[in-house]
Amino acid sequence: MLKEEVKRLLDGKQVELVIGYEKGTLALRTTPSFITSADDVERLVWNEFCENNLAKYLPGRKEKVAIVAKGCDVRSIVGLIQEGQITREQIFIIGIPCEGIIDRRKIESRLGKKEILEAACENGKILLRGEDFQEILKKDDFLYDSCKVCKYRNPIVFDLLIGDRVPESGGIDEYAEIREFEAKSADERWLHFQKEISKCIRCYACRNACPLCYCEWCLVDQSQPRWIGVTDNPSDVGIFHLFRVFHVAGRCVDCGACSRACPMNIDLRWLLKKMEKDVKELFGYEAGLSVEEVPPLATFKEEDPQDFIK
Ligand code: SF4
Ligand code: SF4
Ligand code: SF4
Repeated sequence: MLKEEVKRLLDGKQVELVIGYEKGTLALRTTPSFITSADDVERLVWNEFCENNLAKYLPGRKEKVAIVAKGCDVRSIVGLIQEGQITREQIFIIGIPCEGIIDRRKIESRLGKKEILEAACENGKILLRGEDFQEILKKDDFLYDSCKVCKYRNPIVFDLLIGDRVPESGGIDEYAEIREFEAKSADERWLHFQKEISKCIRCYACRNACPLCYCEWCLVDQSQPRWIGVTDNPSDVGIFHLFRVFHVAGRCVDCGACSRACPMNIDLRWLLKKMEKDVKELFGYEAGLSVEEVPPLATFKEEDPQDFIK
């Protein structure tokens, strides 16, 4: 059905470009696919390995674009519309209800050095095959952490929904780990932060993978003036991470793209989730739920209590 609909959109010239997924060159992977001709729709795939948040490819586009989007991807598209990076009219959202994406790192860590040559997912089971082994794993045990607690598996904004709606994950405390973190002393929290970011090599893959990190001139790249040192000493690295987490506060949709991109396997999610929780408690706001809303940190009210704003 996805391929038929994309063909229809391109043949009818409703869109000039379709951004979706195609088979990757490695097992457990898909890769972003950019399709401009109906002749190429056979390249498209949809499965539990479609991990990229394709909203990353929207800012700056001038043409009419159709995009394949999971629940979290749609929320970041909503963010981009709210922030004027794209218009709603320009985007045709092909929403796909999603029951969670498979975390390849969890699988690779389970299998150790075994090389996976083929992977598939059927009926809640992950089927893996290598040269001299076969393995069947339970899908739910290998989902991304974001997917385990996701409340928006069904896209909330779309022009076309492919597939049946799926049950949302209910009754899971998405902030359990954050509460544990909050219960620690300030020194312990600081130590945790320093320990985690000590692995960072400042490759900026996290920033580059985030659909909401679209600034043409990122503060960390500016040299006139230079706001942040370019070294990997703990102070410069810490400022980079604090700066980034504040920049996405009230905008991050917990899509996990930044954590997946990190070559050092740094737990970026814990800091982002803490900020998400704070914004929710302080402003009653969750990112990416309505194109009409204005994110709380992008606006102010006369009656805001902070005197320094007035
Ligand atoms: S966070 Fe939700 S919508 Fe996004 S991939 Fe996971 S389950 Fe799907
Ligand atoms: S900060 Fe990370 S989890 Fe949040 S929207 Fe950006 S890529 Fe997704
Ligand atoms: S992707 Fe990982 S290593 Fe690279 S800058 Fe981000 S946190 Fe640091």
